[in-house]
Amino acid sequence: MAYVIRAIPVNKNFRTFAVECRDVVEEVRKLQGLSPVASAALGRALAGVALLSADLKTGKILLQISGGGPLGEILAEGDYQGNLRGTVRNPDVYLKIKGKKLPVGEAVGKNGFISVVKDLGLKEIYQSSTKLVSGEIAEDLAYYLTVSEQIPSAVSLGVLVGTDGKILAAGGFLIQKLPEAKDEEIAELEEKLRNLPPITTLLSQGKGPEEVLAMLFPDIKILEKRELRYKCTCNEERVESMLVALGEKELEDFIKKKEPIEVICHFCRKKYIISLERVKELLKELKTKKKR
Ligand SMILES: [Zn+2]
Repeated sequence: MAYVIRAIPVNKNFRTFAVECRDVVEEVRKLQGLSPVASAALGRALAGVALLSADLKTGKILLQISGGGPLGEILAEGDYQGNLRGTVRNPDVYLKIKGKKLPVGEAVGKNGFISVVKDLGLKEIYQSSTKLVSGEIAEDLAYYLTVSEQIPSAVSLGVLVGTDGKILAAGGFLIQKLPEAKDEEIAELEEKLRNLPPITTLLSQGKGPEEVLAMLFPDIKILEKRELRYKCTCNEERVESMLVALGEKELEDFIKKKEPIEVICHFCRKKYIISLERVKELLKELKTKKKR
């Protein structure tokens, strides 16, 4: 079972989060036919957004990573109920592996931005972004949180892909410094982080989020454990409103082609067929809305 935890170390001034999401990444890999490097990149993004949305009480968070590399844009979304979904523009990118690690940074690219969109169901949607540091995602997210949200953060994200392409491990952790944190606390944590084995090593040894955090803070207190699952929020109504958003001219062009419109959801690969009649209705509604 994939899950994220929110925890605090007793007598230490940090907020901590950790996630294990192998099943979710494996599901999206099968669903979207992701190559190993695409699985690793999207898996890290999904683990990252799971950490960011772990303390949401409502709404959702979207993580967008656009680095100019061969994978193209990566989207990962998480909501307050533990539902995750994500997609990568080019799922079938294969790059030469140098050493043991998949070349995620190279595949993502670092000429671009990481942005976070927070939709808490209020009137305003909060959006902010920073430049990518390396395209490795964890480092980029840490930089974003430290600079844009001004919360000094340490982030570790990892996905281990087997030789057959299957996901063997996926997850990560996020440590955020509270303003009261003392210099010696920070130095102690930095030392522990330096000596910590890679997250994929820990996860593939069977260590769960609780155990990973306990390696950094022996007296960790779990505040919340939230189950995670891959779940898309698409439906016919949303597909139709997306079509309407294209505008009158586009709808008229579709009608001229005299064929139903086929839309495939990028996130779950579900196919929607909007009949020619329905497109005509949508156009009519759009026109009358405009007149009012
Ligand atoms: Zn969908």
